[in-house]
Amino acid sequence: MRDTYRTKGLRKLMVEDLKHKGITDTNVLNAIAIVPRHHFVPASLFEHAYSDAALPIPCKQTISQPYTVARQSELLEIQRGMRVLEVGTGSGYQSAVLRQMGVFVYTVERQRELYEFSKKVFQSLSISIAGKYGDGYKGWSEFAPFDRILITCAATEIPQNLLSQLKTNGILVVPVGEEAQTMTKIIRLSENDFETSLHGSCRFVPMVENTE
Ligand code: SAH
Repeated sequence: MRDTYRTKGLRKLMVEDLKHKGITDTNVLNAIAIVPRHHFVPASLFEHAYSDAALPIPCKQTISQPYTVARQSELLEIQRGMRVLEVGTGSGYQSAVLRQMGVFVYTVERQRELYEFSKKVFQSLSISIAGKYGDGYKGWSEFAPFDRILITCAATEIPQNLLSQLKTNGILVVPVGEEAQTMTKIIRLSENDFETSLHGSCRFVPMVENTE
């Protein structure tokens, strides 16, 4: 799958669309302008890779809508060189956008097929990302604490164990709720103080404990 004039052009249009929808962080927009989303969707959905829509991927999961990826990335207030944990690798697209923003990405996925799929895409695009097959509720203690933690599946409550893997002054972004969720941003002010703010409604596949 080559990155042709057509895919480049479609990506440019998608970035313009995201600007119109209110995304202002230029680091986010620049990364989305570069990462070839068509590599992260199933081949049969290639034609839809640059529409602002969530699309089905294997294991009954979804690649997040580009607007959602942009919004979550913006809420994280990313700076180059940070260490970011993502829970819910899925297609790998969100991880690739974060990597393109100059951070070190550690991503966890509970579906083996998606873990393998994303690993292949990262390799084929020479994107260096640390991926793990496992339960995101556990985080990734070997590399903790993180500057930022992003959860890309819906948690019924804020996962406390993940807060413990967040640095002081770190930010965690998570959709919280059941059917529909509220995008929630938490800043760790000190060891025991957290500031929570809410950022609109959203819809994600559920975060499920890995019982394997
Ligand atoms: N960030 C992804 C979105 C994938 S959808 C992308 O850009 O494509 C959310 C993903 O979270 C699914 O792949 C699902 O399998 C995964 N997930 C759900 N519960 C999880 C858990 N406890 N640990 C890790 N991944 C989980």
